[in-house]
Amino acid sequence: MNHPELNTLRTELDEVNKELLELISKRGELVQKIGKIKTAQGMKKYDPVRERHMLNLIASENDGPFETATMQHLFKEIFKAGLELQEDDHRKALLVSRKQRSEDTIISVKGTEIGSGSPILIAGPCAVESYEQTAEVAQAVTDNGLRILRGGAFKPRTSPYDFQGLGIEGLNILKKVADEYNCAVISEIVHPDDLEMASEYLDIIQIGARNMQNYELLKAAGKIDKPILLKRGLSATIEEFINSAEYIMSQGNGQIILCERGIRTYERATRNTLDITAVPILKQETHLPVFVDVTHSTGRKDLLLPAAKAALAIGADGVMAEVHPDPAVALSDAAQQMNISEFEKFVSELVKTGFIKMNQMV
Ligand code: PEP
Ligand code: MN
Repeated sequence: MNHPELNTLRTELDEVNKELLELISKRGELVQKIGKIKTAQGMKKYDPVRERHMLNLIASENDGPFETATMQHLFKEIFKAGLELQEDDHRKALLVSRKQRSEDTIISVKGTEIGSGSPILIAGPCAVESYEQTAEVAQAVTDNGLRILRGGAFKPRTSPYDFQGLGIEGLNILKKVADEYNCAVISEIVHPDDLEMASEYLDIIQIGARNMQNYELLKAAGKIDKPILLKRGLSATIEEFINSAEYIMSQGNGQIILCERGIRTYERATRNTLDITAVPILKQETHLPVFVDVTHSTGRKDLLLPAAKAALAIGADGVMAEVHPDPAVALSDAAQQMNISEFEKFVSELVKTGFIKMNQMV
């Protein structure tokens, strides 16, 4: 049986909780009013000088039994909740988030719709090496019903002594090939100053894994009117990845495709570890199309097809893969690019199993 005094004390405690609740709510209402004035005045919501003043007041008024540090900690939590109340919900939800926009973002590139529910394959060589090499792949890509050709012109390589790409000459080749084969082209840009120029040559601009947190590049990509394919950083969390997309969208460009390309783990059986569940997480958390790069994630030709099927089965809007006329002599990623006949088998297998449609033009 309960001690009679315990019951009385508990009843009293419930009353105090109710009073606290009322006071905290009253405080919240005051904070909201202050927030409105601050918004109207264009003032910042958080004011460290004011916060210091309030904490000092608490310290000077505190007579125990709680330590001042404990009291200040409790009040800081209340202050934080107040600040959150001041920031309206719209501002808190990221522009790329589903909370902000429930419909899927669909990106149109030269007659192909990305993110519309019909999966897209992007294929092409790791690097543009010559007109002939690029044209040969473009022929295979378009012959197989695909409409988007990839090819690196600026290659961010691990070693500075490795082939760095043909640069603008590579972009020229891509544009020429795109016109001749009536397909769209995508290539990576590594410098903010090159974005405007590259927009003249490309249909989609890629920002590579190594540059996912190059915030100046992201901001500059947000200022151009061109779809951006943003790859996940080598060791980036999903949250960091989403925030990088937000950097682009915050500057006005909402045409963003997210691309999971494997992350670095302790596992050495594959080049990177394909984080397959990143796909449904990104689909749930954002309204952007999500791709999977099966080449750079697995780094193994024998895994390209199963990884592509897994990606599409789990909800990816498309897959990216590398194909080269003669992979053995490729200037980059020689070990993992498909040759033309392997690529044809790859596509026909995906078509046969119903993962993609034969013709990707809308
Ligand atoms: C690429 O796609 O050419 C590339 C370099 O990939 P990543 O940035 O994912 O390494
Ligand atoms: Mn490559």
